Amino acid sequence: MITKVYKAFNDKIDKHEMEDAIAVIKNGGLVAFPTETVYGLGGDATNPEASKKIYAAKGRPSDNPLIVHIAHFSQLEDIVENVSSEARALAEAFWPGPLTMILKKNDKIPYETTGGLDTVAIRMPNHPIAIQFLKESDCMVAAPSANLSGRPSPTTAKHVYDDLDGKIDVILDGGAVEIGIESTIVDLSEEIPTILRPGYITLDEISRVVGPVKMDPGLVKEDENVRPKAPGMRYRHYAPRAELTIIEGEDKKVVVKINELIESATQKGQKVGVISTEENKDCYIGGEVISIGKKDDEDEIARQLYKVLRDFDDSNVDVIYSEGFDTSGIGGAIMNRLIKAAGHRIIEV
Ligand code: AMP
Ligand code: MG
Repeated sequence: MITKVYKAFNDKIDKHEMEDAIAVIKNGGLVAFPTETVYGLGGDATNPEASKKIYAAKGRPSDNPLIVHIAHFSQLEDIVENVSSEARALAEAFWPGPLTMILKKNDKIPYETTGGLDTVAIRMPNHPIAIQFLKESDCMVAAPSANLSGRPSPTTAKHVYDDLDGKIDVILDGGAVEIGIESTIVDLSEEIPTILRPGYITLDEISRVVGPVKMDPGLVKEDENVRPKAPGMRYRHYAPRAELTIIEGEDKKVVVKINELIESATQKGQKVGVISTEENKDCYIGGEVISIGKKDDEDEIARQLYKVLRDFDDSNVDVIYSEGFDTSGIGGAIMNRLIKAAGHRIIEV
């Protein structure tokens, strides 16, 4: 299959190219498109064959459900059993935006889309190209991140192309995304709203709208016996090819420790990568150092994270050492991704 890439100028895709992408999705094909979080790999959410193609293209386990993207609130009402007052209030507060809600599905959405679950994940993205594509196609689009399963999520069309060229019909290229980490997932199918995946919208922000909210116990690493409720959070995800280790602690000690690690890895003949904050980037004695942004600029760190991991894949380093980041605000979501990418290898200094 030839993968067509349609590039936007000023957030506008050429009319005929958009028409082609719409024809593809309506006919059960796959279209990758930009959202404000990461690129999504879209197929018609009501078409079981399209969902199967998504799993096949990504190499994704078929029990890992997809998020359904919509452009109108009425589409939510159309596919769930009951729209709770919490769902209404959260949509009012955060849609379009990086919040995914989980509700009991009705039979318009096939089990192929929900990985066999009776619930469905839904979100209204906040990106002009995504919204235009959803509105003009009049499709509800099931879309997980447009990467090969296990690789970092794509934040540019090139990342999508690198992973999925020849496996999907169309890529809508809207340039680099705004946020860079996936949406917050909140499960409204249970008594107390529960965060299944941290993201740009924080627990506190959600709690201000709906009252008490809890964090999925499966996300707290201490208890290895409790599995995360979102199937996708159970896999080793976001993994760079090199072994990644996070070094956490007081800033100066972190730099000293990373320099020790650089020295010993280099002696062993290993090629080293370092993920550094902008402030520390000149403090390292060797290795390939990539600055991820200023310490207190969480938005920039989130935007750069997956790109930095992919850049290190391209430069074929053997080991990566990363500074740890603050966990306030969206820092929690950033560290959640980084810790998964590191397979929980953390050194405290
Ligand atoms: P991705 O689109 O790659 O960000 O992956 C979607 C995420 O949403 C995965 O972690 C899924 O496991 C999760 N998800 C989607 N639908 C559901 C659902 N009905 N219940 C729990 N988790 C879900
Ligand atoms: Mg993903």
